[in-house]
Amino acid sequence: MNRSLCSRAHAARRLALGLLFLPAALHAQNAPAERVDATINARIREEGTKRSQVLATARMLSDGFGPRLSGAPGYTAAARWAVSELTRFGATRAVLEPWGTRGPAWELTGHSLVMTAPFNLRLNALPKAWSLPTAGTVRGTPVMVPSLAKPEERKAWAGKLRGRIVMLGRVSETADAAERFAPGAVRLTDAELDSMSRITEPGSPKDYWEDFDEWDVALVEHRAMLDWMGREGVAAVVEASGSELTIRSTKYNSAISSRDANIPAFTVAREQYRRLQFLVGRGAPVTLELSLATRVFPADTIGVNVVAELAGSDPRLKDEVVMMGGHFDSWHAAGGATDNAAGSAVAMEALRILVAIGAHPRRTVRVALWDGEEQEDYIGSAAYVRRHFGDHASMAIKPEHARISAYFNVDHGTGRIRGWFLQGNAAARPVLAAYLAPWKDLGAGTLTIRNRGSTDHLAFTGVGIPGFDAIQDEMDYESRTHHTGLDGAGFLVEEDLQQASMVLASMVYHVADRDALMPRTPLPAPRKK
Ligand SMILES: [Zn+2]
Repeated sequence: MNRSLCSRAHAARRLALGLLFLPAALHAQNAPAERVDATINARIREEGTKRSQVLATARMLSDGFGPRLSGAPGYTAAARWAVSELTRFGATRAVLEPWGTRGPAWELTGHSLVMTAPFNLRLNALPKAWSLPTAGTVRGTPVMVPSLAKPEERKAWAGKLRGRIVMLGRVSETADAAERFAPGAVRLTDAELDSMSRITEPGSPKDYWEDFDEWDVALVEHRAMLDWMGREGVAAVVEASGSELTIRSTKYNSAISSRDANIPAFTVAREQYRRLQFLVGRGAPVTLELSLATRVFPADTIGVNVVAELAGSDPRLKDEVVMMGGHFDSWHAAGGATDNAAGSAVAMEALRILVAIGAHPRRTVRVALWDGEEQEDYIGSAAYVRRHFGDHASMAIKPEHARISAYFNVDHGTGRIRGWFLQGNAAARPVLAAYLAPWKDLGAGTLTIRNRGSTDHLAFTGVGIPGFDAIQDEMDYESRTHHTGLDGAGFLVEEDLQQASMVLASMVYHVADRDALMPRTPLPAPRKK
C-alpha cells in the first residue's frame, strides 16, 4: 500500500497499535530483564546433541508400536511404554492419568479392495477408522455419486443405492498441477518468519469455541450424510485420496469418530480412483470386490493421557507447574511418526535432558502426552484441563488454575522449532524472546502474535492459561505424511528433533525458574448458550 494515500488511516492504526501494545510495552519497559542461564543452555546443547535419544523414542512409538488410534490396544501399549521410558529417564513421577470414559475403540484386522473386471487391479486403499466390518466379501458394480453432502443431493439418490458400492466424489481427469510442482519438503524462509513476527492481529480461531464450532458444523453435516447412507442400505463407500502422491482422506480419516461407526468405507489412491471413474463413466463392466475386518472394543473404557514430572526445587514455587507436550494418539493409516510421535518424543526428550543435566527448576516441569487429539475437540487435553484447571463453557475456575504458568505444545511434524505462536498474548513476547535468543543460531527466534488452531494448546488458552504452539519447519508434513499412509519413521529428521528437544527444554526450564508466572490474557467469557 502506498504510504501517502493513507496517512490518516495509518496514523489511526499506529495509535491503535500503540494502545494495543501499551500494557505489554509498559510491562516490557518496567519488567526486569529476563534471567537466561547460559550454563544450563550449554549443558542442554551438550546433552541434547551428544547423548540424544529422541529419534530412538520417536521411531519406537511409530514403527515399534504402530498406529496409536485413540482407545485402541496400540495406543495403550505405546502409552505404557512411554511411562516406563519416562521413569527410566528419571522423571520424579510418570503415570497413565485417566481423563474419563471413552466411546467404543476400534482396530483394523484386515482389508482388501480389488477390481476384478474388466481387468484385475489391486487397489491401494485404506479403510476409514471406525468403519463397520463387511460380512465377508462384498462384490458389485460401483455407482458413481458426485456428492451426498447436501439434503437435496441425497433426495435425488433416495432408494437407488441399497446394497451398492458407492464411489463418492469425482476427481479431475488429470493430476493436480499444483501438487505435482510443489516441492516435497520446505523450510520456512527468513522472509516468511519475519512477516510472521510482524503480524499485528491474532486472527482466527480467536478461541477454543470458535475452533470447536467450526469443526462441529462439519461433524454434523458429515454425520447426517453417513446416517442417511446407513438408512439407505449402502453396502460400502469408496472415496479418492485427497492427495495425488499418497493416501490421505479428503476430509476425514474416519467415519468421523467412534460414535459414527457405520458403513464400510475406504480411501483409494487418487490415480487408481481416476481410472475407476473413467471406466465407470464409459459404462465398462467394472466389478469391485472388497472386505474389511475389524475389532471393536466396548465403550466406557477409561481413556488415559501420559503424564510425567520433574519436581520443582523451590519450596515456595514447587507446587506451581510449567507444562509441555503434544498429542500421543495417531490415525491408523501408518505409525503416526510425524503426527505425532515426533512431538511426543520431543517432549519426552526435553524432560530427559533436564534430568540428565541435573537441572533443578524452581517450579515443577510436567510433560503431558494427550489422547484423542485426532478425535472431536481434543478429548484428552480438554478433559485434563476441565479436571485440573477450569471449565471451557462455564469458565468455573479450579485452584490449580492459579498454579500453572504456561503450556508449550509441539504438533507440526518433524521440523525444527522456529519459534512460538503467542495466541494473542502480547505481554508474553518479551519473555519468550529472551529465552529464545540463545537458540537463534539453530533457527529458533520467531514469535508471532497469531492464533494457531487445531491442536491441544487451545484446551489451555480456552480457560485463560497461556498456551503456545510451536512454529515448525513444514518439511514434507502437508505434502506427504500428515494423516497419510506414508507417516513412518523414515520421514523423521534426527537433527530437527534434537533441536526441537533442546529449545523446548530451555523454554520450560526458564519459564519454571523465573520469579513470576507467565503474563496472561484476560479470562475468556463463559460460553453463551
Ligand atoms: Zn497432530
